[in-house]
Amino acid sequence: MSVPAVFLDRDGTVNESVPSAAGLRPPWSVDELRVDAGTRGLLDRLRQAGYLLVVVTNQPDVARGSLAADVLDTINAAVVTQLGIDAVYACTHDTADDCACRKPLPGMLLQAAADHDIDLSHSWLIGDRWVDVAAGLAAGVRSVLLRHDDSWRATTSGAPPTGLSAEAEVATLAEAVDYILGVSRPAAARPSG
Ligand SMILES: [Mg+2]
Ligand SMILES: [Zn+2]
Repeated sequence: MSVPAVFLDRDGTVNESVPSAAGLRPPWSVDELRVDAGTRGLLDRLRQAGYLLVVVTNQPDVARGSLAADVLDTINAAVVTQLGIDAVYACTHDTADDCACRKPLPGMLLQAAADHDIDLSHSWLIGDRWVDVAAGLAAGVRSVLLRHDDSWRATTSGAPPTGLSAEAEVATLAEAVDYILGVSRPAAARPSG
């Protein structure tokens, strides 16, 4: 029987991004991995509500040479252990690789759905960038955006498509979990562009 999932972006959603001169970047070691003390409890609430927890993360620094693939695996394993995640899917390509997995494309979500018999029509995505929302939309899942100043900024994948919007925009993971569980329903999100 198929199960609903909450797809979780990794950096900026379940762990902190690392500030750098070039902007926010992912942790490049387990030592740089920072998870807020409340995050485990929030994700436990989703799990207890019956959702499979699946991390879907773009990690182009592997293709770019600033992050070794085995180090990425170690960081992802720490995320799984610390947060009780059921599965992690990582795209280690860059835009020029033209892969099917790099968000805003839905490849990682579709692969996870096939691997774990996920009911996409009852699933959700939480992310902090427009590419997360776009991937969720393309996979047919509902999305909640953790809104910050860079959420709608153009990426190496380009600018967000005009009219793209999340079902809800919230400031914190706690609010996103409350929204998904129906505890609170903040005002509808504004479309981009
Ligand atoms: Mg992110
Ligand atoms: Zn990829």
